[in-house]
Amino acid sequence: MSESREIRSLIDLVTERLRPVSETPRLEADLLVARAINMPRSYLFAHPDDELDDGALGRLTSEVERRLDGEPLAYISGMKEFWSLELMVTPATLVPRPETERLVELALREIPLKEHSAVLDLGTGSGAIACAIAWERRMAHVTGVDISADAIAVAEQNARQLDLDNLRFVEGSWIEPVGELSYPVIVSNPPYVAEDDQALAALKREPASALVAPENGLGCIRVLAEVVPSVLAEGGVFLFEHGAGQAEEIDALLKSTGWTEVETITDLAGLPRVTRARRES
Ligand code: GLN
Repeated sequence: MSESREIRSLIDLVTERLRPVSETPRLEADLLVARAINMPRSYLFAHPDDELDDGALGRLTSEVERRLDGEPLAYISGMKEFWSLELMVTPATLVPRPETERLVELALREIPLKEHSAVLDLGTGSGAIACAIAWERRMAHVTGVDISADAIAVAEQNARQLDLDNLRFVEGSWIEPVGELSYPVIVSNPPYVAEDDQALAALKREPASALVAPENGLGCIRVLAEVVPSVLAEGGVFLFEHGAGQAEEIDALLKSTGWTEVETITDLAGLPRVTRARRES
């Protein structure tokens, strides 16, 4: 890949190569070099002059090629940090996004720290949201639902890895496996990308079933607006993520389907990315 085998120069080289495919090329270069030598990232700063042997260089070259071919780093490493938790991810699940931490933060405000409660996460995927909530609220019992058995297997492994015993995962379509139960707090990061969205080209390695929704991206949210009330406790709160351009339409949709206190909440960039609504009591 280069003349030099030094950590320092390889990081520079990989950073430049990743620039066209990554928003954080330097970070990803660090992580790939650290993986190649099987050391934590911190090792790189202390040993910039170390040289990679043939095996390490071969691993680095092949993983950089995979990354350049559009594979997310999280699928290459099998890990993604979310809410400071190390989560396992596979191509069966969406890679957890930092912006979804906003949904977690908002949900936590609704869940008591020192009382029993129950939380439902619809379309849980890798279980990122469910695990973060269960981690922060040990008295809450969290249920994650996903239609994909492969995703459920990943979510279960994450719960085990984090040693969380206050959550469970069930396979099924939205509220279908939930039965007669009702929850005071329901969260979701449903698929909401429109089928013709240009951004999908860059997301082609992630499961379309977790990203794309019909009806200009609003199809799943329409279904949720309709079915969630039947499993939401009276006065309960539903919080979900969506695209910034969808906020107005979602606001109108919820208001016209009997939801109250409908509120759109912005992310750190000031974009309206989460909607919170209450079921009339
Ligand atoms: N936020 C994702 C994106 O990168 C979409 C996630 C989703 O559809 N739930 O577009």
